[in-house]
Amino acid sequence: MADSPIAVFDRLTRVDLPQHTPVLLDTACVLGGSIAGLLAARVLADHARTVLIIERDQVNVAGLPRAGVPQDRQGHGLLPGGLAQIERWLPGLTQEAQDLGAVLVSPDQQVVYLDGHQQVRSGDAQILMGSRPFLESRIRSRVLALPNVSTLSARATGFEYRNDAVSAVRYVVDGVEDVVSVDFVVDAMGRSSKLSEWVEQAGYDRPRLQRLRTGISYATALFERADKPDDLDLACALGQFSPPSSPDGLAVGAVNAIEDDQWLVMLMAYGENQPSRSIEAFRSTCAKMPPIFGEAVSGAVTREILTYHQADSRRRDFAGLSRFPARLVSVGDAVASFNPVYGQGISSAALHASCLSEYLVGNPALTMPAAEFFALQGVVVDAAWTISAGGDAARLDAIAGVEVSEDVRRQRWAMDQLIRATLVDETVAQAFNAVAFMLAHPFSLGDPALVERAVAAHQRASAVS
Ligand SMILES: Cc1cc2nc3c(=O)[nH]c(=O)nc-3n(C[C@H](O)[C@H](O)[C@H](O)COP(=O)(O)OP(=O)(O)OC[C@H]3O[C@@H](n4cnc5c(N)ncnc54)[C@H](O)[C@@H]3O)c2cc1C
Repeated sequence: MADSPIAVFDRLTRVDLPQHTPVLLDTACVLGGSIAGLLAARVLADHARTVLIIERDQVNVAGLPRAGVPQDRQGHGLLPGGLAQIERWLPGLTQEAQDLGAVLVSPDQQVVYLDGHQQVRSGDAQILMGSRPFLESRIRSRVLALPNVSTLSARATGFEYRNDAVSAVRYVVDGVEDVVSVDFVVDAMGRSSKLSEWVEQAGYDRPRLQRLRTGISYATALFERADKPDDLDLACALGQFSPPSSPDGLAVGAVNAIEDDQWLVMLMAYGENQPSRSIEAFRSTCAKMPPIFGEAVSGAVTREILTYHQADSRRRDFAGLSRFPARLVSVGDAVASFNPVYGQGISSAALHASCLSEYLVGNPALTMPAAEFFALQGVVVDAAWTISAGGDAARLDAIAGVEVSEDVRRQRWAMDQLIRATLVDETVAQAFNAVAFMLAHPFSLGDPALVERAVAAHQRASAVS
């Protein structure tokens, strides 16, 4: 009998290194040298004589923003689930990042507000805060230090195939085409990966693309952090319940301590609503939020507001394709890119690397499509999608007045009870956060005893308020 999604997720979130790492490949090639590609390269380094990362941007370890990752100017946090996996593959990275100024936030230094009400603090999971370019640069310096990993500054343009397997990658450097023979390829080209087009043109199945139109707008600015207001390093304010009570049409705001003694302040809105774009309006919105927001934006601006719009959450389903090339997998945003406000992207990429490890440690038949890999990865994608797209779908259905099935209605009611109970019950808050932090599978929240506890806690709290 196949393992349950909870059991698979528990296995993938383990933090010990594999005992046996067979070298199965001569040249493994990773397309895209961003966070998902770098973490995949780290795992491949255990199983290939040479790992070549092809990245179209000129990158170095300096930690500068770059064209190929436009989202990297926006707020990023590394959830405990992803941090544990990154620490698994690159031991000591957390301490190195902290030594260079990243902030490791413990539960007593973070606070979450749901419509202005503070969530109960729970557990001991820590979140690593730093800017996206900084976090990527720390990962890059560690991965590129591996003796069998190298990079090629080039734009990948397609594949060559032999015996229904990818056998070479075509690329362009300075307008000149070339090709490299490979015996395994990982697509980590982000949400606009061209892999689907490439395989379809060669006569293989195109992975089905699911989209949920969320229409989110981000605005992020950096401020000098003179001191530590309230001794907090991280605050998140969500307009959770209907109608949300956030100011100026906002859905979410976050204040994060990052490297170089700065506050990164992010405001996010859905649909027609737009977060403030001038510093004056930005400060005025923050002044209407919990006090730490106003305090964080009172310092000097160290980087002006930059905005980002994302039309949809999307996932590509690779499991169950009947005709797909062997020796080819896809990871990170190329597979699923979620509503970023849930902060799941880097953690998902790290768990995809762990899926790749479990697949290769199992000594798979490399002449066949990587079905075992896609099945493992499907569990991780489903887990993240259930939380983020599930939450967004409920919001969109409520706005549009869509009638949903009784099953869906019950699930959404249970989730609402759990979320409300995180304001008053530590056990529920801990179970909920384990899922939100990608340490546990969302099915763990379906435990009837937990839902009953949430209902009772919420009723008790309503009775006294
Ligand atoms: C606004 C916003 C906020 C976010 N906040 C968070 C957060 O708080 N926490 C979190 O965990 N995640 C967050 N995410 C998600 C996170 O940014 C990504 O999940 C993460 O960066 C992993 O992405 P990736 O490596 O798969 O793809 P990307 O980072 O998009 O990288 C793709 C890479 O592929 C390269 N590439 C593309 N095409 C080619 C080609 N043909 N040849 C060679 N190279 C190519 C690109 O140059 C790029 O380097 C956020 C996303 C957004 C949009």
